[in-house]
Amino acid sequence: MNVLVLLGGLLVLAYTVARHQIPFHTLGLITALFLLIFTLAGGFSFFWGLLFWTIFLLPSLLLGLPQLRLQFLTRPLLKRIRAVLPPMSDTERDAIEAGSVWWEAELFRGAPDWKLLQNYKLPTLSKEERAFLDGPVDELCRMIDDWDITHNRLDLPPEMWAFLKQNLFFGMIIPKRYGGLEFSALAHSCVVMKVSARSISAGVTVMVPNSLGPAELLLHYGSEQQKDYYLPRLADGREIPCFALTGPGAGSDAGAMLDTAVVCMGKHQGKKVLGLLLNWEKRYITLGPVATVLGLAFKVFDPDGLIGDQQELGITCALIPTDTPGVIIGNRHFPLNAAFQNGPNSGKDVFIPMDYIIGGQQNIGTGWRMRVESLSVGRGTSRPAVGTAAGKSCARYTGAYARIRKQFNTSIGKFEGVEEALARIGGMTYMMDAGRLLTLSAIDSGESPSVITAILKYYNTELMRQVVNDSMDVHGGRGICMGPSNYIGRAYQTVPIGITVEGANILTRSMIIFGQGAIRCHPFLVREMEAATLDDIPKSEAAFDSALRGHVGYFVTNFCRAFIYGISGSHLAEAPQPGRIGDYYQRLSQMSAAFAVTSDLVLMILGGSFKRKEKLSGRFADVLGYMFYASAVLKKFESDGQPRNDLPLVEWSAKYCLYQVQVALDEILRNFPIKWLGVIVRIAIFPLGLSLRQPNDALGHRVASLLIKPGKARNRLTQGIFLSDDPADITGRLEDALDKIIKAEPIERRLRHDNLLQPGLTDFEAWIKNLQKAKQITAEEAGILLAAQVATRKVIMVDDFSAQELVNKTGAKKKAVSLKKSPTAKKVPTRKQAATGKKSTSKKTVRGK
Ligand SMILES: Cc1cc2nc3c(=O)[nH]c(=O)nc-3n(C[C@H](O)[C@H](O)[C@H](O)COP(=O)(O)OP(=O)(O)OC[C@H]3O[C@@H](n4cnc5c(N)ncnc54)[C@H](O)[C@@H]3O)c2cc1C
Repeated sequence: MNVLVLLGGLLVLAYTVARHQIPFHTLGLITALFLLIFTLAGGFSFFWGLLFWTIFLLPSLLLGLPQLRLQFLTRPLLKRIRAVLPPMSDTERDAIEAGSVWWEAELFRGAPDWKLLQNYKLPTLSKEERAFLDGPVDELCRMIDDWDITHNRLDLPPEMWAFLKQNLFFGMIIPKRYGGLEFSALAHSCVVMKVSARSISAGVTVMVPNSLGPAELLLHYGSEQQKDYYLPRLADGREIPCFALTGPGAGSDAGAMLDTAVVCMGKHQGKKVLGLLLNWEKRYITLGPVATVLGLAFKVFDPDGLIGDQQELGITCALIPTDTPGVIIGNRHFPLNAAFQNGPNSGKDVFIPMDYIIGGQQNIGTGWRMRVESLSVGRGTSRPAVGTAAGKSCARYTGAYARIRKQFNTSIGKFEGVEEALARIGGMTYMMDAGRLLTLSAIDSGESPSVITAILKYYNTELMRQVVNDSMDVHGGRGICMGPSNYIGRAYQTVPIGITVEGANILTRSMIIFGQGAIRCHPFLVREMEAATLDDIPKSEAAFDSALRGHVGYFVTNFCRAFIYGISGSHLAEAPQPGRIGDYYQRLSQMSAAFAVTSDLVLMILGGSFKRKEKLSGRFADVLGYMFYASAVLKKFESDGQPRNDLPLVEWSAKYCLYQVQVALDEILRNFPIKWLGVIVRIAIFPLGLSLRQPNDALGHRVASLLIKPGKARNRLTQGIFLSDDPADITGRLEDALDKIIKAEPIERRLRHDNLLQPGLTDFEAWIKNLQKAKQITAEEAGILLAAQVATRKVIMVDDFSAQELVNKTGAKKKAVSLKKSPTAKKVPTRKQAATGKKSTSKKTVRGK
């Protein structure tokens, strides 16, 4: 009985702490009072009393008495941290400090405030943006023939380049006063999504001038003169931009670039001016081969002290017209059969005046910060839109195909094996869209949430990989044989591009997301680190002591929360609404508290060496990432007005995310840096064991069923991609065939029931006629069956080519030549021309210009 009272009392105490932020002293007093009453009431034997009071008094005195705390806790800890705190390079510091924190901080800190999430407004398109999407974007989509682009031309056709420029597709982020469209991030994302769903090559061409490139850098850091000159020209496509950061020696570690600029005097437009002499070698640069203005990152050196005492001035960004003497540009890479322009470029002794530097001479050395700040917004807009585009088109087309394609006299989408793939396609597409919209709501409200955009870049491209793979499996040979009627092959080929660019995914997951998250979102970590770096020891101790007190309170609160939510199966956690959807909120609160406890302990144990523990960091990224997606899914559902039809998608996605969170936490505990502590933490955060489960078969069936028939949920899921009604277009043929198949199904069912449906018919038409003659079907039914059969054949057939056609297009020798002599390629100056600075006199044939 006594034990029950004691446990009950402690649980009530833990619950109070879990739900209310109780100050440290108050908590101590309440606990002391409870133990005192319990002792006086004779609840303890001598031994248990001694044990409990010792367990309570030791830490309370240590933490509660300032002198004791300083002597036995603050100083030893500070000493240890000072010894292990890794030095932080400027580039690392810039990367970590870039951007702002937003909703992810709530999830990180163990107590997400659901009211805050509810108060965020998911963005909506303005009238003008909607008109652009329904007008020029749809027109562009109708113009796109991806096979022609990626197989015949290896480029967009000239009329498409012209159309893009005329309609200001390259000026979506440029303000109207400079002649741009001044679109919101949502509109930008929607345009990229719609175009990419039709053609990745066209989508990337539209995307690049609008993200992470010269226009964005100019808008934030350019001088007024640079803005006035370049922005109108970039908006209407007179200038085609690219941004060159990556080189052969510097990929993920872009800060290690060997591209140099030496401060010197040189000649510019006939005058001797102060400037930079540049040498560089870059590769993989999108739009590089057709660029007229090259955004370039390089390191500046001032050996002669022309502009100050410092010799190494750091990474700097400049805009360089590509016809500047010495610039070598024009050759192309061939990235996985995509036809957007991409290639290497280099410069040999290129002299530029100081005012080519973005923002002018004063911005020497700020290039890395510019880059990471732009990245903290940019990677949340375009790449995730491409991932979502792939998801939406796979969901729409694979669902339709799975209904149309029959094997064993049954639509393949009705087989349980295929249903599993369809459920993943549907659920993950919903997740991608939800994550995209929640992130855009942050960006459009003026935030630059660097951790969230890293999450979105990584997971939307990884989810895209899974969805496209599943889609390929469902299509079988139909997805493999390339040709004009293959609508997923190119998306499949280009998946690794999204995975690699804007922060390669392994690096983003295992280093960036949690590394940056921990420093940006943890309420005390940075304060502690900053205190540890102070040279003035008394100040350092005082600052560290203050942060430490807060940190202990934060940890104790989260520990109680994780335990109480865990032992109650999350029922004691807060939820903004009751019922099944409310349960997901409660589970998320539980996982958030579990994450806060686990991550805090791991960071405390490993300190600076955590930087090398990428496996643990990657799993923490998974926890944070999937919690973000689960909350985005709930937010989207609520924002859409909680449509009942979407429930299977919502529940599948929420369950999937929560299960992934649990898996990642389980793996962290199995690999905990101190094994026995890992066991204790497991008991504390999962007192009822690992109780979350994957979405079950019945739920998967409900999701798959939504995808294989026309309906509101399918339309909402795939909203925002271009839907063709052109019978000459394969995607238009799919929609048409789906309708006809569904109309024919009741007749087929009846025939099957009457044993009249014969598999493997060679002459379908004759069979239909016979049925009609025998009055087993009406003339109308015969028409329906025939129409379905014709439409099906149009969908299931693949392209074939004469041997000659394929030799012409795939002969290695021919291809190498055709790429070099591509009509888009600029005349490449010889080394001599580059060195002497004399321009090539032959005509340029740059399609992009
Ligand atoms: C089609 C395409 C278009 C591109 N467009 C542009 C452009 O317009 N401008 C531009 O400047 N660049 C561009 N890039 C370059 C792109 O940003 C780089 O490819 C990317 O940064 C990765 O560099 P890398 O390819 O050299 O790979 P590497 O840096 O060699 O990385 C290889 C692998 O190692 C992993 N890795 C590296 N370091 C770590 C670490 N510390 N921890 C864990 N994993 C790690 C990476 O995640 C990756 O999986 C483009 C690339 C491609 C393929």
